[in-house]
Amino acid sequence: MSDYPVVVRDLNKDDLIVVTGAGGFIGGSLVRYFHDLGYARIRAVDRKPLPEWYQRVPGVESLCMDLSEKENAIEAAKGAVEVYNLAADMGGMGFIERFRIECLRSILINTHMIEASYRAGAKRYFFSSSACAYNTDLQKTPDAIALKESDAYPAMAERGYGWEKLMSEMFCQEYHAERGFETHIARFHNIYGPNGTWYGGREKAPAAMCRKVIEAEDTGDHTIEIWGDGTQTRSFCYIEDCVHGIDMIMHCDKLIATPINLGSKELVSINELVSIVEDIAGIKLNRTYDPTAPKGVGGRNSDNTFIKSVLNWEPSTPLRDGMGKTYDWIKTQYADLKAGKRVVHD
Ligand code: NAD
Repeated sequence: MSDYPVVVRDLNKDDLIVVTGAGGFIGGSLVRYFHDLGYARIRAVDRKPLPEWYQRVPGVESLCMDLSEKENAIEAAKGAVEVYNLAADMGGMGFIERFRIECLRSILINTHMIEASYRAGAKRYFFSSSACAYNTDLQKTPDAIALKESDAYPAMAERGYGWEKLMSEMFCQEYHAERGFETHIARFHNIYGPNGTWYGGREKAPAAMCRKVIEAEDTGDHTIEIWGDGTQTRSFCYIEDCVHGIDMIMHCDKLIATPINLGSKELVSINELVSIVEDIAGIKLNRTYDPTAPKGVGGRNSDNTFIKSVLNWEPSTPLRDGMGKTYDWIKTQYADLKAGKRVVHD
């Protein structure tokens, strides 16, 4: 497991931290992280009704608001010392390729949140960007070159979702350049782990593979359908590494208005990912392939040279370890769903 460096923060325990997208996977985990560190004033905001939030942390102010509306963004940012914007309309490849308009419309959230945070006098603003902001021409083949931060330009981002991220990054950079507002930008590479979407259409490959293997075990139908030909490659970053990374990036003066990769460099093909889950479950399945299903770019990895040089750290939870925890969590969720209990979904 990763050893996490101590983070030095000029943040008082009663300074107000605002986390948007807090009903979702990463936002919910970040709220719990700051709460467990002893920060006493956290405002968690999400569009979803409260009962649908993946995590509800006791003692945290939890608000249901649509942050694509300017007035709501102003309300959400009021009194904030730090703002972490993790709200976006997003999902796995199945969602991103089909719902480009929804993805693009997330520009409204960042546009209003950054302005509201600036006007509220917040000290720092964090934006969750994505590896989908990178030039897709560099990601055609499975023998993925690791993407370094400068590879976003010349720009040819993922249509819809990736362009929105690139544009919102630019907002963050210009708010710093023109107005001196301290912004921080991380490009996440496929975050996975417990408390994320695992069924319903927005789930990503690691959760989808766990669910499919659990379904095969449960139903006795020992086949698994893989999107594409399974040779497409990715790296997957465990949620604990992600939330620690966000904290380190937000509190590093060398990383103001400077996009940085937050991802693992352990590259695997989707076929290898399936083998890992089979191994965890102790089962072997017959694989079928759907070449017409959304599969994204041919290959993508994170170049961690920059993060290592600035933070002397990089996400390093081994995929096998993180997937073990994710599988166990989804297995419990699956059993709960079967038993008619409320579970996390999209
Ligand atoms: P998620 O879907 O679990 O959480 C996003 C949350 O934002 C959801 O709960 C959703 O209800 C909320 N939201 C959407 N529109 C909103 C609105 N108008 N007002 C208020 N809330 C709204 O996704 P996640 O995986 O936790 O992702 C968090 C952030 O990280 C997003 O910006 C996403 O683009 C980025 N990101 C995630 C990954 C990943 O692998 N999970 C990779 C790259 C980037």
